[in-house]
Amino acid sequence: MADKKPFEIARETLKQLTARKLVPTPANYLSIYNEIAGIPHVPHFPADILRDISQSLPTKTPGQQKQKGLLDYSIDRLSWDGVKSALVAYGGFTPVNAPDGAASANVASLPADPGLGSPAPAALTSEFLAQIGRLIEYAQPALGNDDPRFNEQTETLVRALRQPATDVVAAKLMLVNYSHRLSFAAEDQAEVRNTLLKLLHLVFENIGELSLDEQWLKGQMDALMEASTPPLTLRRLDDVERRLKDVIFKQKDAKQKTLQAQNEMRSMLAMFVERLSQMTQSTGNFQQKLEESAKLIEQAKSIAEIAPVLKDVVSTTRSMAQESQVSREQLQNMRVRATETDAQLAKLHLELDRVSSQARHDPLTGALNRKGLDEALNREVSNVRRKDAPLSVALLDIDNFKKLNDTMGHATGDIALTHLAKVARECMRPQDTLARYGGEEFVILLPDTPLDKGIDAMTRLQRELTKKFFLAGTEKVLITFSAGVAQLIADEDAADAIKRADQAMYLAKRAGKNRVLGA
Ligand code: GH3
Ligand code: MG
Ligand code: MG
Repeated sequence: MADKKPFEIARETLKQLTARKLVPTPANYLSIYNEIAGIPHVPHFPADILRDISQSLPTKTPGQQKQKGLLDYSIDRLSWDGVKSALVAYGGFTPVNAPDGAASANVASLPADPGLGSPAPAALTSEFLAQIGRLIEYAQPALGNDDPRFNEQTETLVRALRQPATDVVAAKLMLVNYSHRLSFAAEDQAEVRNTLLKLLHLVFENIGELSLDEQWLKGQMDALMEASTPPLTLRRLDDVERRLKDVIFKQKDAKQKTLQAQNEMRSMLAMFVERLSQMTQSTGNFQQKLEESAKLIEQAKSIAEIAPVLKDVVSTTRSMAQESQVSREQLQNMRVRATETDAQLAKLHLELDRVSSQARHDPLTGALNRKGLDEALNREVSNVRRKDAPLSVALLDIDNFKKLNDTMGHATGDIALTHLAKVARECMRPQDTLARYGGEEFVILLPDTPLDKGIDAMTRLQRELTKKFFLAGTEKVLITFSAGVAQLIADEDAADAIKRADQAMYLAKRAGKNRVLGA
């Protein structure tokens, strides 16, 4: 047929139209003409009509806007597949719920995906689809469970993908629809996460502002801000939670004790005022009594008349003196108690520091303290044993720190400690843990890290520290450290691994300081 001349094809086409009793529309004519000429049938793509439809779609919600955009894009690319997906997602209709026949009838006319090549063996395909189903199932918790329609769509899709005889083309269509929904759900989750983080930071900022006079709390707040800054990991969130618990515990304790001391002071003040008014009253009575007696003495004509008055005056004076004595004793007692309460209040801060030592973080550097390190070690060691992954521990000690304290002052020494902790945190991976082990000694836990990589990590930190100085007034100060690194051996106690790292650190000091040695 392909070698026929055009007029012959035209004549044959008209014959066929009549023979097949078809209405002679341009579409029917074209279809038969192509058939006779051997031209593959290409379905007509009504781009103009579709564009017209797209124009008339309302775009009130961001979802509608997005789907309209996808629709326009698909029209431009003459993609029926895209047009269908966009329209389905626009209407909130999921073809997954449509009768099977309808879905397959539609997808049957879809052009074959050139990327697929020849069809895969059925067993392989169903295993592949089941694997996608598992992937979707595992990823589902990350998207939250807030949208029941999306949950339902996911369940239906996963169920369909697990069927041993799922049709690949139908599965593809379902996946296209699912991915549209997924893009919204993922966007929502990211937005929720960012908003929650912003809220969290706002809370931290406010607590920090309210407690400007509490230096330890300010330090904890800064550390909290840093710990809750992305990239977030479960480990860092766990850290945030524990720090927050410490802060809340300390604040509650401080508030309770301050209130108690205030109440005691208030009741003492009330007693003092009452006592004072009693005294003023009895002094007034005494004055009156004296004046009356003076009058009687003035009017007396004989000693005999004066005697009872005098007796009266003496007894009034005596009781007045006794009363004064009682009042004085009571006031003195009150003064002692007030001084005691005052001392109690002064002790409160010391006590808070005692409570603070029960917390898991070192207030100066924000690194974990020994208690925090013990907990982190337990966690890491059990992780290591479960996953059979390497864990390295590094112990580092600042070089010539005593000299720095002696020449530049203890306050500068403190800044140096904070500086080291800050640079270490910047340099470490989120899953690493920094703890202050002693005065100027720090321990770093490096999970999933064999010895050589642990040594590399410490050398990197060393290099970083030599690049970053801190200022003491106007003077630039550089610090160095010596470190030992040990990889936890199977069944070894974490404390023993730290001991080995400590010995290696000691050797690094002996070898001239500012170096890292493996144990
Ligand atoms: P080396 O290089 O051998 O480690 O010598 P070093 O001077 O660093 O070590 P040494 O152990 O002799 O001195 C440690 C000093 O650290 C002594 C102590 O006063 C000081 N230190 C401990 N804790 C703190 C602290 O919290 N702040 C300050 N500023 N100094 C501290
Ligand atoms: Mg030391
Ligand atoms: Mg030292």
